[in-house]
Amino acid sequence: MIHVAIVGSGPTGCFVAEFLAKKHQTIQIDIFDRLPTPFGLVRAGVAPDHQQTKRISQQFDRTLQRDNVRFVGNVEIGRTISYDSLKQHYHAIVIATGAFIDKPLPGIDDPIKGIYGSAHFAGWYNSHPEHCKQPPELNGPEVAIIGTGNVALDIARVLSKTTTELSDSDINTDTEKAINEAGISDIYIIGRRGPEHASFTNMELTELNKLENCTILTDADRLPEQTPDISDAGQRRAVEQNLATLREYSNHAQQNQKIRLHLMFNYNLSGTENSNGKLTALSLTDNSDSKNDLRLPAQTLISAIGYRSEVIPGIPFNEHHGRFEHTDGLIEPGVYCAGWCKRGPQGVIPTNRSDANSTGKRILADLADTTVSKAGFSGVADQLDQQAPVFYEDWQTIDNAEQSRATNHRPRTKFSDTDAMIAQIL
Ligand SMILES: Cc1cc2nc3c(=O)[nH]c(=O)nc-3n(C[C@H](O)[C@H](O)[C@H](O)COP(=O)(O)OP(=O)(O)OC[C@H]3O[C@@H](n4cnc5c(N)ncnc54)[C@H](O)[C@@H]3O)c2cc1C
Repeated sequence: MIHVAIVGSGPTGCFVAEFLAKKHQTIQIDIFDRLPTPFGLVRAGVAPDHQQTKRISQQFDRTLQRDNVRFVGNVEIGRTISYDSLKQHYHAIVIATGAFIDKPLPGIDDPIKGIYGSAHFAGWYNSHPEHCKQPPELNGPEVAIIGTGNVALDIARVLSKTTTELSDSDINTDTEKAINEAGISDIYIIGRRGPEHASFTNMELTELNKLENCTILTDADRLPEQTPDISDAGQRRAVEQNLATLREYSNHAQQNQKIRLHLMFNYNLSGTENSNGKLTALSLTDNSDSKNDLRLPAQTLISAIGYRSEVIPGIPFNEHHGRFEHTDGLIEPGVYCAGWCKRGPQGVIPTNRSDANSTGKRILADLADTTVSKAGFSGVADQLDQQAPVFYEDWQTIDNAEQSRATNHRPRTKFSDTDAMIAQIL
């Protein structure tokens, strides 16, 4: 029997498990996750109003139900079980721990209240237990978001939606209440470069226009008249679409909607102001030709400028890139990495599938002739004595409890702390 340990039950971990489970007859795959719940950022990153995207977890759930796959949640590799111990007891290890630590905003070192990273912010509105321990303090009326990717748009959209618009999401009602009580009137999405460099997709950009109680505004003078020369046809088309949508938004008049969402390009965050340690305003340097520097009142600042992976003791880590040190996905003999902790925080959920499949193929090739016997899970199980591991059936109990707590049209009411999850299974 071949024993494979996968560290992380996000999309990458689940794709690797599915590939290996289908391709090999005598294999046992153990997927460890530090949370009691599986599916990584599908649960904790993808916006709560994008239930269609979250539905891929049904496919991952079927992987976890396979006879030769074991889900072991609430177990952190590097803390509950050491990396050395995994190496001793498994033929192969796949590190698939993602990248969900916020990169710091350059030049903003002071601990000012009101400044948050998007991993923390999106983790909070998705009820991730670690991010709910210190919920962001939302003191409206002005919120600024740095970054022009889909995550920035997600955050702005979630902050702008009405209770009716969120009625079939899985945002918790107390989180929604905190957002409503902040009294947000203006959201600023701020990009360092021009709109032709923004990485948001047109689908997310046009979705903003459907918001019931929010007007989208952008300054026509900051949009290039022509699409820049881009050799890649697909990329050029994507930029053209975004510019066309933004031109349409630049014709919007300030209407009577409760919230105004400003898409601002070519501004650099150069400083912050605070009163008694609480954020009050931002200084923005104009990077365009007009050089109109700005002072923007803002009580909340969210940076959506990228993420790094978390170090696991014993695994070589590239500090500069914020991910594990590897050569084409190989960390050392028998140890592989895949997904965001290998490539960095780039690509959507399906992007991780091809990465996972090539990792799976490589593992099978590398293990084709192995005759070494390894203990697998039974070799590490005694290290779990102090910890309540969450197996697949336990996850089902938590899942059912969350669904039965759901109110109105919501699919679930998530538990936002680990103890409450564990209490369901004791
Ligand atoms: C805010 C946000 C919104 C997004 N929205 C979308 C979207 O709408 N559509 C889309 O297609 N893509 C979206 N993405 C991208 C998508 O989430 C990623 O492509 C994908 O989740 C990466 O998968 P992964 O398995 O590599 O990492 P992750 O999904 O992060 O999974 C990593 C897993 O490893 C576990 N883990 C970490 N460290 C340890 C450890 N030491 N021991 C045990 N377990 C550990 C974590 O708990 C987690 O479950 C979004 C990303 C973010 C940040």
